[in-house]
Amino acid sequence: MFVVLLGPPGAGKGTQAQRLTTSTGLLHLSTGDMFRENVREGTELGTLAKSYMDRGELVPDEVTIKMLLERITRPDAAEGAMFDGFPRNVVQAAALDEALQGRGDSIDHALLIAVPDEELVARLGGRWLCRVCGAVYHELNDPPSRPGACDTCDGELYQRDDDRPDVVRTRLEKMKPPADLIDHYRDADVLREIDGERDLDSVTADLLEALR
Ligand code: ADP
Ligand code: ADP
Ligand code: ZN
Repeated sequence: MFVVLLGPPGAGKGTQAQRLTTSTGLLHLSTGDMFRENVREGTELGTLAKSYMDRGELVPDEVTIKMLLERITRPDAAEGAMFDGFPRNVVQAAALDEALQGRGDSIDHALLIAVPDEELVARLGGRWLCRVCGAVYHELNDPPSRPGACDTCDGELYQRDDDRPDVVRTRLEKMKPPADLIDHYRDADVLREIDGERDLDSVTADLLEALR
């Protein structure tokens, strides 16, 4: 099964993907996590990606598509995956469709998590990530048991540079799923919209229901 999670920054894609992959066994693939890993490791791709990420802009399609398509050729993605943060436009969506078609697969579900802007700003401002395993927390809504440390792996928690209020506004404008991307999946009859402005468990339950 191949699933796409759509939604603006802060909608809860990463958080929900972690919950859903635990219960479904699907592989979680986040292009944002892949870029951040490259930045951390100081690769050429990381240096390039960082220059866009710091400004709250999309990394060029060519680079992003190449990285993602390479990733899904690995054996652990043979049975399916849950994409989080990809595709972000129709060019990326078409490239993914084509790659999946080439192996007899297709996107089974596109789940759009909808949350109003004011709520997104509050979520991103309080977001903390684990440096080691990438787990997502919120200082008020979903705090770790001990401040500054990851519940799962005890790793150090940090706040992303691009979650600063000045960058967040730009990101919300540039990173929202565009209308034609949503139409792409509506036309393919796989789109389902989920109300993301509720507690974490309710959103997870709706997403699981949509996957059934
Ligand atoms: P968020 O969790 O806030 O939605 P992500 O972690 O998905 O953000 O992405 C972080 C940054 O990585 C984006 O602002 C963008 O610069 C880059 N990025 C991630 N996914 C893509 C993509 N599919 N296409 C282009 N750039 C991307
Ligand atoms: P995305 O991957 O879509 O950018 P995240 O999963 O990183 O979003 O969530 C953004 C922030 O909002 C995180 O700090 C997370 O803990 C918090 N969050 C996610 N879902 C909810 C929710 N339903 N209610 C309250 N806070 C949430
Ligand atoms: Zn961790």
